Amino acid sequence: MYKIWIDEAGRGPWLWSVVACALCFNPEAMPPKEFLSKMTDSKQLTEKKREELFKELVEMSKSSPPVRGKLEGGLPQVFFWVWVVDNHVIDEINIKQANKEAMRRAIVELLRKVDKEKIASVLVDWKDNYKFDELDRQPVYIIGWDAKVTEISAASIIAKVFRDKLMSTYGELYPDLGIESHKWYGTKKHREYLNDKSKITSIHRVSYKPVKAILEAKPKLLLHICCWPDATVPIMDLKDKYDITCFWYDPNIQPKSEYDKRLEHFKKVCEIEKVPYIEWPYDVENFFLKIKGLENTPEKWEKCTQCYDIRLQKTSELAVELGIKYWTTTLNISPHKDVEKLFKLWDKHSLKNNLEFLKIAFRKNKGFERSVEYTKKHKIYRQNYCWCIYSDTFPKDYKLDK
Ligand code: SF4
Repeated sequence: MYKIWIDEAGRGPWLWSVVACALCFNPEAMPPKEFLSKMTDSKQLTEKKREELFKELVEMSKSSPPVRGKLEGGLPQVFFWVWVVDNHVIDEINIKQANKEAMRRAIVELLRKVDKEKIASVLVDWKDNYKFDELDRQPVYIIGWDAKVTEISAASIIAKVFRDKLMSTYGELYPDLGIESHKWYGTKKHREYLNDKSKITSIHRVSYKPVKAILEAKPKLLLHICCWPDATVPIMDLKDKYDITCFWYDPNIQPKSEYDKRLEHFKKVCEIEKVPYIEWPYDVENFFLKIKGLENTPEKWEKCTQCYDIRLQKTSELAVELGIKYWTTTLNISPHKDVEKLFKLWDKHSLKNNLEFLKIAFRKNKGFERSVEYTKKHKIYRQNYCWCIYSDTFPKDYKLDK
């Protein structure tokens, strides 16, 4: 009488298929005891050992050719069948049903090799009580017997090695996926890799919550804010498409009391718009170092280029640190800024840090006028001079407190 055992591999991973193996030994030609003693839970074996046992099991499943002096060859010592249900089906019917389907099809195929009348029992190493119409006698479900029952060990080795072999082919097709490091599971590394959702492949299980969340998530964007009035329109325009974090790094503002006032209004609008923000400490010394020797160049010339550069450099560095791929700045909404210069600097820092920037001319589509309206409506402070003491519009009566 045959005892059929079923095991599966690949329920947990984020990638590709679930594989089930239905197996029974041939009671008329049992594998040698020496071989059976090597069987244990596939997870406790090394990859090399699993592969050796897999090969032996495949050989044992074949009839051996007739030997001299005998009319018939040797009987197969093991019968098994493997069925694969891929990630697209898993996404459609869920992993529980996909697992059942893989087991059902493995049983159906195995029944072509063994006499159904001679099946004594069907045992499944799993907790779900699937019922199979194809069987007269429904399976008994047990858990954690991989290491205790030789047939379960054999079924688990076959399912696992079969799946691993095909997955390693996918590993070659998607070398960037780093399959070796996460083995297809939802590890931290795998999650970090998928931070860029364009990296989700055709073999990912997109119905799995974490993968689905990554797929549906808005891309992250670090938005450098030069002053709050200028930030209103970019935030309103980008908020629906991007998961924005605002960044305050404006060491060029003097005096400190003015800096604090603008910072306070920046925070106020972040709260109104419900966007998170990061505030960088007042870094005025570095600003003066950056423009040293250029203080008296005309506005929009080299002094201002350095002033844009220090802020863009810091923003791009922070984007890298936070793992945010997209970045931009509100600097170019103001008609007083040189957009071409800004775009060149953006290119420089994006290339250097492997980032994508949003090259949007925010001042188009009446950006500046809309920002004026917004600040009036919400009573947001709107400054009336560019930010450093060397700007043409810096009020002469200001007392410096830097
Ligand atoms: S004038 Fe404005 S842009 Fe130019 S350096 Fe001063 S603060 Fe920066």
